[in-house]
Amino acid sequence: LVRLRARLARSQNAFGQGLLSLLSADKLDESAWEEIEDTLITADVGVTSAAQIVDSLRTKVKVLGSRTPEEVRGLLREELLAQIDTDQDRAVHTEPHPGAPAVVMVVGVNGTGKTTTTGKLARVLVGDGRSVVLGAADTFRAAAADQLETWGSRVGAPVVRRDEGADPASVAFEAVARGVDDGADTVIVDTAGRLHTKTGLMDELGKVKRVIEKKSRVDDVLLVLDATTGQNGLRQARVFAEVVNISGIVLTKLDGTAKGGIVIQVQRELGVPVKLVGLGEGPDDLAPFDPEAFVDAILE
Ligand code: GDP
Repeated sequence: LVRLRARLARSQNAFGQGLLSLLSADKLDESAWEEIEDTLITADVGVTSAAQIVDSLRTKVKVLGSRTPEEVRGLLREELLAQIDTDQDRAVHTEPHPGAPAVVMVVGVNGTGKTTTTGKLARVLVGDGRSVVLGAADTFRAAAADQLETWGSRVGAPVVRRDEGADPASVAFEAVARGVDDGADTVIVDTAGRLHTKTGLMDELGKVKRVIEKKSRVDDVLLVLDATTGQNGLRQARVFAEVVNISGIVLTKLDGTAKGGIVIQVQRELGVPVKLVGLGEGPDDLAPFDPEAFVDAILE
């Protein structure tokens, strides 16, 4: 956790330090507030949240009069937390049901880190003593199944796969059936992220979900979003949220961007909590999203 926090701090720090120094200026005039708002928007906080944060800070700074650096930090911490710390459920639901494994579907555009996240999540669960089955339902690229198999053997989880071009739903079904037969705790299904047509995507993910429900139920649908892709990534995420019922977001590659404000925007836009964050390519670089630790890393 310490290492993850350090990594977060390194990438998010630029944004936080910029805000802190702007807010510490002796005189906060109109152009200073504009600059603060711009800094928030540049960090992908989103226009609505940026305006709310600035409005609220202005009021509080006025009440306070002169400010010590600790007070400035405290105010900013409060405002960022107010935007991030929604009382939504951030747990990933991996507890098995009587006679059937929990099932987690991982969805999102190709390249965002779906397969890597599936592997890392399996690693966490296996590390906790759970038995996990992985389903390679991204059948459009043989490489995706190969990649998942590598993760499976690395972390100790069997991988159910079929030939390239096979029906993703049949792979998902077989993975869950295997989970039931083996008495596994959790099945994680890695899906294809082709944004071909919206109805195509809807049909495909809908079918995957329906066949899973023949054997168990879908406990979590995690949307993987690459934090470095900004507005474009958010647009794609919106399409997924329209076609499938997302229960949580995994924000990947937070190690590679100072635009951590995307956490705020994505939760606001999609109405779904960020549950996990990806902080690197390695097997241990996945962490539960902790709003306080995140804000503290920004303001370190
Ligand atoms: P998929 O197509 O959505 O399954 O994406 P992959 O899992 O293949 O990931 C695409 C690339 O992003 C790979 O090179 C991963 O190693 C890399 N990646 C995934 N998650 C993270 C992360 O949290 N941080 C960094 N730096 N790279 C990541």
